Amino acid sequence: MKARKKSNWRAVIIAYLVAGAVVAAACVGAIGTAFREKLALGRAYGRFSQACAGGASRQELAEFARWADVEDVLLLDGQNQIRFSARGTMEGVLALEPADQQGKYLCDPARPGVYYHVIRSSVLRSLESMVEEDAHHEFEDEFFYLDGGAKKVYALHSLPNGNSGQRVFLIFSFAPVKHAQLLLRLTATAGTLFFMLYWALVALYVYRDAERHKLRGAIWGILALFTNLAGLLIYAVFKQLSFFCFKCQAVQNRGHVHCDNCGARLHGVCAACGKTIEHGAAFCPHCGKEQEPAEFSALFQ
Ligand SMILES: [Zn+2]
Ligand SMILES: [Zn+2]
Repeated sequence: MKARKKSNWRAVIIAYLVAGAVVAAACVGAIGTAFREKLALGRAYGRFSQACAGGASRQELAEFARWADVEDVLLLDGQNQIRFSARGTMEGVLALEPADQQGKYLCDPARPGVYYHVIRSSVLRSLESMVEEDAHHEFEDEFFYLDGGAKKVYALHSLPNGNSGQRVFLIFSFAPVKHAQLLLRLTATAGTLFFMLYWALVALYVYRDAERHKLRGAIWGILALFTNLAGLLIYAVFKQLSFFCFKCQAVQNRGHVHCDNCGARLHGVCAACGKTIEHGAAFCPHCGKEQEPAEFSALFQ
């Protein structure tokens, strides 16, 4: 009975870990697949920004401009004159000025249909927000219906090109990842459910274990339900300090000679010195005589 209960818990823990690993692998796999192009772009940006730190060639600028979400890569001199446009979309001067009062967007009077949303390199590396459909709604609410016409909103990032005094401007038009928000929400939901299940299992384990030892299972279970690992720790310390019947596991007063639950004799007697010893002791703590397991168990029959 005792062994079966223990293996039940082992089966529950193994099932929990296996199910958790399978669901986690499925979530990571689905997100990794859905976001693989964005993740690759993030890594490419990491390499590209390092190339720019040492001074990137036009060849390197043109290579980065081949990524799907990149609208163009520009090289501007100190007077904001466009010296190089990797996709050939722009020429002349890029004169950026704030487009709104919060300074969230920039615009160039020479290109009235376009707004630029400045993004930091940390955003590019982690690729947050660029896949969020919400970001596009935000753009729409604030700009798309202003001035009586739709505005094109690009993400803009700039970094110095070595010590040349020139700057590289990266202009992005991020296509949203399909089902990105659904996948992220499902992953968050699965994570929450597994965490709640873990929490409930700790409380259930404490409740069942306390009941098995004839303790107040409901009280210990509720303590673990509210405090989780702290409750489990308190319960473990309490158990260490308690004395249980070797046969039925019921909690016993140390002064008991027989178990008040199953009647088993709780203490043995040393065959050599005749003093009372704990059940299952390998040696007598009084005289040091080794106890025979067979002879010992005969005492409790
Ligand atoms: Zn007992
Ligand atoms: Zn002895």
